[in-house]
Amino acid sequence: MNKTEALLSHIREVYGAGLIPLHRPVFNDREKSYLEECVDSSFVSSVGPLVGEFEKKMAQFTKAGHTIAVVNGTAALHLSFRVLGVEAGNEVITQALGFVATSNALTYLRAKPVFLDVDKDSLGMSPTALREWLESNVEMQNGKPVNRLTGARIGACAPIHTFGLPCRITEIVNVCNRYSIPVVEDAAESLGSYVGGVHTGLIGTIGTFSFNGNKLITTGGGGMVVTNDESLAARVRHLSTTAKIPHEYEFAHDEIGYNYRMPNINAALGCAQMEKVELMLAIKKEVADGYAALFDKYEIKSVKSREGTTANNWLNAIILDTAEDKNSLLQRSNQDEILMRPIWRLLSTLTMFEGAARDSLSNSSWLADRVVNVPSSVPDSEIYRLPNEHS
Ligand SMILES: *Cc1c(COP(=O)(O)O)cnc(C)c1O
Repeated sequence: MNKTEALLSHIREVYGAGLIPLHRPVFNDREKSYLEECVDSSFVSSVGPLVGEFEKKMAQFTKAGHTIAVVNGTAALHLSFRVLGVEAGNEVITQALGFVATSNALTYLRAKPVFLDVDKDSLGMSPTALREWLESNVEMQNGKPVNRLTGARIGACAPIHTFGLPCRITEIVNVCNRYSIPVVEDAAESLGSYVGGVHTGLIGTIGTFSFNGNKLITTGGGGMVVTNDESLAARVRHLSTTAKIPHEYEFAHDEIGYNYRMPNINAALGCAQMEKVELMLAIKKEVADGYAALFDKYEIKSVKSREGTTANNWLNAIILDTAEDKNSLLQRSNQDEILMRPIWRLLSTLTMFEGAARDSLSNSSWLADRVVNVPSSVPDSEIYRLPNEHS
């Protein structure tokens, strides 16, 4: 059997007949009973008691000092950049090989992205590319990192833990510390991924998660900011709730805020999902191990988690030899209703970011031509293992 046929038949074996999505959420009676509790209480909007419960569950799971639930991952990024003082005219260092939300969020503050290359093994920002770009472009002026050419302040650095694979975040933070650049860790895809024993999102200054329907766990739409910095957390909480000064009944606001808090009905889903997360991670590890054995046998190149890190196996990714191979695999699998997807187009090629600063992006371009995600959901046949009745 050739590689493609072996891969497709493996996927059919794991996921069965019919259309196979790339990643779909799993629900059972646990979600329904939380939702019923929420609807019966009539508190469906922000901020009900289940929001606090969901935040507590996330804090326990990630060991974050502070967790603030918001409406989506993009809002979490927007608030994170905002509380770190990113402002109009600043430059924010990020990846060209990434989801558009990170660069969108910094642009909401009228900052500009600087697109740096990724490492081929982690698909995340290369600390070497970062160090080289900073050394040749940035100098400290009055204690602040400033781009010598443009005169812009470097507001933040925002690497991504792509597909749940931890990037070299410790090295990135070390480089950024030398320039007093705060790090926003986009951990949207990496719930359950660790560097050493530390959960992703908690190595940089501030971290963000997404609970969109395609992520490891979902709240319908949702996101979260995590940090161990108490004053940053307080700022995020305040800005996310229209900057309202806490009071029993008075409406007073002390700055322009956002309506970004997570509604209670979304948190209801989140509470149920968090009670399953450990088992979901275990099942997804089995799916990833199944793929790994096949990849070994048929010499299919794939992206693996690095030594010293634990990946959540959110999306499994393979690396084709050429762009032509990638295109023909995508065509073939989608024809068969096996919804494989290519990695993102480089953001530096999108019209709104055409003028953005960048380095060579050589690994990013190479990967953009070759990386494909394969279906990675919890298989239907394993759902019975997840907690069902309300605890
Ligand atoms: C999903 C995702 C986001 C945005 O999250 P939303 O909840 O969809 O706004 C941001 N960054 C990355 C890397 C993502 O995968």
